[in-house]
Amino acid sequence: MIPEKYEKGLFQVGAGTYAYVQPDGIWGMSNAGLIVDGDQSMLVDTLMTLRLTDEMLTVMADAVPASRKIDILVNSHADIDHTYGNQLVGGARIVASQGTADEFFKVPPDYLQKLVTTDHSEGGLYIAEKMGTHLFDYSDIVLTPPTETFDREATIMVGDKEVRLINVGPAHTSGDTLIHSVQDRVVFTGDLLFLGVHPAIWAGSVDGWISACDTMLGLDIDTVVSGHGPVTDKRGVQLFRDYLVTVRDEVRKRFDAGLSVEEAAFDLALSPPYDEWISPERMVGTVNYLYRLWGSTETINDFVGIFAALSRYAKRKQACREGLHSAGCGHAH
Ligand SMILES: [Zn+2]
Ligand SMILES: [Zn+2]
Repeated sequence: MIPEKYEKGLFQVGAGTYAYVQPDGIWGMSNAGLIVDGDQSMLVDTLMTLRLTDEMLTVMADAVPASRKIDILVNSHADIDHTYGNQLVGGARIVASQGTADEFFKVPPDYLQKLVTTDHSEGGLYIAEKMGTHLFDYSDIVLTPPTETFDREATIMVGDKEVRLINVGPAHTSGDTLIHSVQDRVVFTGDLLFLGVHPAIWAGSVDGWISACDTMLGLDIDTVVSGHGPVTDKRGVQLFRDYLVTVRDEVRKRFDAGLSVEEAAFDLALSPPYDEWISPERMVGTVNYLYRLWGSTETINDFVGIFAALSRYAKRKQACREGLHSAGCGHAH
């Protein structure tokens, strides 16, 4: 069951299974899920802030009485836009792969709060612009880690429903779990699937990510809930798999030709529909990651520094749009 429109809200995608969708899928705008049967409930991921998570839990509680008390929370991976709201379901079993648990504390909320309020460097300002507006307040977040972990696979019952957890990491991160609601023929992918928005390929393994797409394509499912972007089906997975292969191969050509990280990213001209995907500056992060993987010593290795490079890409793109040829617009022009 795929919602007709890509809009914010809770959508039924199976019998007692729901997607919570946050357009436009960019920074901090992630999707989550809910699986219920009888009076049992499983939440798939929390959101980037307490406010966003609270808003989601209220919408769920109003529409689905079984969700008023969340019994089980599964974190698809450790990224903050999927975990920072965990404390609001305190008392629930919190389940994640061991790989996810291992990197759960990688971005402390007080570090991020300080960054978006006091760091006026190029990268700091970019982060503040994207993830430090009034929508995003990290000051009251208490990181609430998994209470149970598994290695590669686990099955959890929600009422009489079987939910399979399949860790296909390293892919987007070191531990990435597909949440497959078997009878509903639905899979929640976490950030193993981005649609309409460029992914952040900054860790994990691109080849692992491509094989994660193959795992998704092999599941007996009708509906796929992405981590960022609209709800889809296997066609969306195939489209994203093709994106990963194309980007990896196109970046490799530029690596072999000796282009720098930022030049290679700017030179990448993707064909439709990828040329319409938002936040193309994220490709700088992707190129930087691939270059590091391939042994380049000229990569950017600090968290804020990568965002500074994203900022430079976005400004240069804007200058090209405004017709300033001095920006060096490449064949995107
Ligand atoms: Zn992520
Ligand atoms: Zn995400």
